[in-house]
Amino acid sequence: MNMVLLGPPGAGKGTQAKVLSRDLGIPHISTGDMLRESVKNRTELGQKAQHHMAAGDLVPDELVIAIVKERLEKSDVEKGFILDGFPRTLRQAEMLDASLAGIEKGLDLVLYFKTSLDTSIARLSGRRVCEKCGANFHVKNIPTKQEGVCDYCSGKLYQRKDDSKETIKTRWSVYERDTEPLIRYYFRKGTLKEVSGDLDVDGLNRILMDIFREESLI
Ligand code: AMP
Repeated sequence: MNMVLLGPPGAGKGTQAKVLSRDLGIPHISTGDMLRESVKNRTELGQKAQHHMAAGDLVPDELVIAIVKERLEKSDVEKGFILDGFPRTLRQAEMLDASLAGIEKGLDLVLYFKTSLDTSIARLSGRRVCEKCGANFHVKNIPTKQEGVCDYCSGKLYQRKDDSKETIKTRWSVYERDTEPLIRYYFRKGTLKEVSGDLDVDGLNRILMDIFREESLI
């Protein structure tokens, strides 16, 4: 199953993608994770992307498109993939369509996670991420057993620089300007399904599994 998770920052796309990837056995491809890894490793891409990310702006299309194209050529996408945070612009969406057509694939489903700015701020400002395994926690909603320490691998937790209230607001404006038009783009293609990003992880997961069954995708 080839799917895209679309929605504003803090709608729960990454959290849900991790669960789906484990349960469906298909890779979770997050451009945000890939870019953060490049920044951490100080690669050329990381150096070019860093200031855009810190400001809450989008990284230029050609940089992101190149890493996604390369990723989609790996053999583990054969059974399907979950794209999280890509596409984010019309140009990226068109490139994705063209790339997939070139390898005789297409998108089965685009899940639009709808949520409000208030929910997003509450979620993102309390988010903590494990620097070792990437697991996500929340100071109130998903607290760790020991403060600042990952429950799974004992790695140290950190707060993403772009999870400050001001940068979250910028990310939302960027989302509304550049990414929201994709809702219409995919609606027209007939691949879009809207779900509530306000639900808890298990509740939303049940709804998604129902959609997959209804669409005969599992
Ligand atoms: P995310 O982890 O998806 O919230 O992404 C974090 C940041 O990485 C974004 O605010 C952008 O700066 C950058 N980024 C991630 N995916 C894309 C994309 N598809 N296009 C442009 N920039 C991206």
